[in-house]
Amino acid sequence: MGGSTLLKETGPREVFCGLTSIVWLHRRMPDAFFLVVGSRTCAHLIQSAAGVMIFAEPRFGTAILEERDLAGLADAHEELDRVVKNLLKRRPEIRTLFLVGSCPSEVIKIDLSRAAERLTSHLNGQVRVLNYSGSGIETTFTQGEDGALKALVPLMPASQEEQLLLVGTLANPVEDRLKTIFKRLGIKNIDSFPPRQSTELPSIGPRTKVLLTQPYLTDTSRELRDRGAEILQSPFPLGVEGSKAWIEAAAKSFNVDRNLLDSTLEPLISRANKALKPYVEQLSGKKLFLLPESQLEIPLARFLHNECGMELVEVGVPYLNRELMKSELDLLPERTRIVEGQHVEKQLDRVREHKPDLVVCGMGLANPLEAEGISTKWSIEMVFSPIHGIDQASDLAELFARPLHRHNLLSPKTLETV
Ligand code: SF4
Repeated sequence: MGGSTLLKETGPREVFCGLTSIVWLHRRMPDAFFLVVGSRTCAHLIQSAAGVMIFAEPRFGTAILEERDLAGLADAHEELDRVVKNLLKRRPEIRTLFLVGSCPSEVIKIDLSRAAERLTSHLNGQVRVLNYSGSGIETTFTQGEDGALKALVPLMPASQEEQLLLVGTLANPVEDRLKTIFKRLGIKNIDSFPPRQSTELPSIGPRTKVLLTQPYLTDTSRELRDRGAEILQSPFPLGVEGSKAWIEAAAKSFNVDRNLLDSTLEPLISRANKALKPYVEQLSGKKLFLLPESQLEIPLARFLHNECGMELVEVGVPYLNRELMKSELDLLPERTRIVEGQHVEKQLDRVREHKPDLVVCGMGLANPLEAEGISTKWSIEMVFSPIHGIDQASDLAELFARPLHRHNLLSPKTLETV
């Protein structure tokens, strides 16, 4: 595991739950609907995380069971059937319905997988009903995507064809650009999961080579491997270094000619390095502290240190999958302090002690830290922004340079000179 120092910590946590990922999954698969089996608290969480109106259904596929419906178990099943029936009457275009579990003890008692089977058979297979958990007891916010994709894997048709499969939600234009690069390299048979329509699931088999776009897909990658696919070992496509290695991993697996690879990537890399330069000047030498939330922390730390010159004080991760993260860990500088898990109070004490220039954290911690004069970046922004690929490296750096710039503008010294 490179030369990093790995510590574990448990205690009070301050992270979003897996329900949050509904926001980007619904945007990705507009024909899918996510029915949160939960309470008003769940509705408020999504509303504040997404900044959208939860009941604006055309934009956002979520419905909430009322707490009173959860009081009796027998009633809860009936109520669920009634809500689903009404929903499908109103929204006949829904093709895939996810029942998303949450924390309240009444919800935990409902067997949602049995409910999903029952509803699929009632609906004669016209709508596929699946389930997964978004509960804050079991998941952090990106793990919701892992749960949803894992639920879809058994529905993927079998295939014997050689193909490249990109796994993990990307912004559509970013995905198109990455696919164009692979096509230029001669990799023609390329698909992505999740698909843009929930019914157009890619096929899978022993000649499928999976390139993960996101680091938080532990369960999904295990299921894909069980279906025979090979998971390519690679860093994640963040920054120039990570994206280049990620493309190279696929190129190697498909025996792409080295000269073709170099001539395709070189112009992209030199353009990206040029665009990165002004941000490197702003970020270089600044101290960075990442609190655990999105599971993107290690690739981000690697990018911000190796390409932007930031000094890593601590890299927190909610959960460390050593196998999926191996290539990333190898790229981190010696003695990087990685802390798996969270004891929020102890971590905040360390933040105060080290006085970093920038803290990457959840929305709940950002305000108090800002009030203490510490610049912050919400980790949730990383999952809503198009940050993957060589082309996007400068946009990614800009996300971190912006709060530092703002902090400088507001500093008493700057204000004196205005
Ligand atoms: Fe809160 Fe749990 Fe609902 Fe998430 S699933 S909003 S943590 S009650």
